[in-house]
Amino acid sequence: MHTDIIAKLKEMAATPGRIWLQGGTPATYGALLAETGRLANALGSLGLGTGDRLLLQVEKCEAVLTLYLACLRAGVVFLPVNPAYTIPETDHFLTDAAPALAVVEPGRVAGLAALGARSMALPELLERAATLSADYADPEHAPDQLAAILYTSGTTGRSKGVMLSRENLASNAEALVGLWRFVETDVLLHVLPVFHTHGLFVATNCILYSGASMIFRRAFSPSDVLAELPKASVMMGVPTFYTRLLGEAGLTREAAAHIRLFISGSAPLSPATHAEWQERTGHAILERYGMTETNMITSNPYDGARRAGTVGMPLPGVEVRVTGADGQALATGEAGAIEVRGPNVFKGYWRLPEKTAEEFRGDWFITGDMGAFDRDGYLSILGRAKDLVITGGLNVYPAEVEAALDDLPGIAASAVIGVPHPDFGEAVVACIVAAPGTEPTESAVRAALRERLAAFKIPKRVLVLAELPRNAMGKVQKAALRQAHSGLFQSN
Ligand code: AMP
Repeated sequence: MHTDIIAKLKEMAATPGRIWLQGGTPATYGALLAETGRLANALGSLGLGTGDRLLLQVEKCEAVLTLYLACLRAGVVFLPVNPAYTIPETDHFLTDAAPALAVVEPGRVAGLAALGARSMALPELLERAATLSADYADPEHAPDQLAAILYTSGTTGRSKGVMLSRENLASNAEALVGLWRFVETDVLLHVLPVFHTHGLFVATNCILYSGASMIFRRAFSPSDVLAELPKASVMMGVPTFYTRLLGEAGLTREAAAHIRLFISGSAPLSPATHAEWQERTGHAILERYGMTETNMITSNPYDGARRAGTVGMPLPGVEVRVTGADGQALATGEAGAIEVRGPNVFKGYWRLPEKTAEEFRGDWFITGDMGAFDRDGYLSILGRAKDLVITGGLNVYPAEVEAALDDLPGIAASAVIGVPHPDFGEAVVACIVAAPGTEPTESAVRAALRERLAAFKIPKRVLVLAELPRNAMGKVQKAALRQAHSGLFQSN
């Protein structure tokens, strides 16, 4: 078993003056512990106890982290929801998770109450907590008790509640702190959203488990990041952060000199971005792979080569295998379904036992991603299984074609999809975004690809788009692209 998050918080708070949040008035771990005590008392005074769900839907602010820890102390299940969702979209989480309390922006209280939810404005909860004692008698919590429910982004179908235990979070935090060498003098530049596993668990728990501190920014902006980089030692980001920063003239070796580690994840980082970043800053971005259901699964090494286009090796304590259609483990180099098991793997989808059973093979969780290991043990992600293109009976892994496209001059971003085709079943279609000041043409792109890829992988069409549809984590929404271009090969 791993040290529980609250035990770690208390351990860190025992050192007077240890800083948790940098900034105008730095907040200490001691102050953090006290605030979580007040909030845990406030939750108790509102009748919330072990196993009750607390839905939190607010703009990014420090209180999200405090409330997450207060819920852990009280045994209340933390359920953060993207504040970008409309009130009708939020209804799904209310009916599905039946939270005992929804804490929201003041402007949303009435809207959620109209849907039958018990709701409260965040400032009101904070005011109530301010009147209560910081002393809190923590109940005992078992490691397999639910810590949080995070909903999948659900680009197709309804989003599912991912049940994460205290042990899931603790085991992953310990593995990452060791692997990424977090120490108490580290300062993390926190610019990720906090309703998603990346900014909420990976970022916060790495800091907590090492007693380090963070610079907590409420949004990502390239100029703000450049201003803060000299004060930080680690930055975590999604690939779009890195590509946007590359558009800033101020991104230089000097600007990044104070950073010891840049980490990327949640979506594929193109080898072209990796190379350009290294050239501009001298840093090889460390790419890692994970998902809401599994926390982090693999990471490129801290000391060894960080290979662009790969997500590295399984984390300590985490097992990964690649399987074929019959469920048998495949040999090195062969492409198949990525499966994972270990203390990081979630407890199942909330109130969906059948769906949960479908996605496990014994105790192996079928991630839904396709991939292959190379001879040195590095895993490459080839795309989601449902994004695999089968054209004329042959498999085309979108990631392979995207890598070839991203390598061509004049292409800033690409997404490869399968579109219904009368002869081939599906046809490979590339959606590309032109790099500033360039005008790539369909025929030139197809000609350039012919030198790199087998004929069946060459996109039948190359569409130049102004931008690719992405979600809040910068992930390309392929279902939306497929839908928009589904009629491309229909004869009228
Ligand atoms: P989420 O649950 O929203 O974090 O999404 C998890 C999914 O994001 C994974 O199943 C992968 O498809 C994708 N993903 C995460 N990290 C990476 C990465 N480094 N490279 C490619 N895909 C990634």
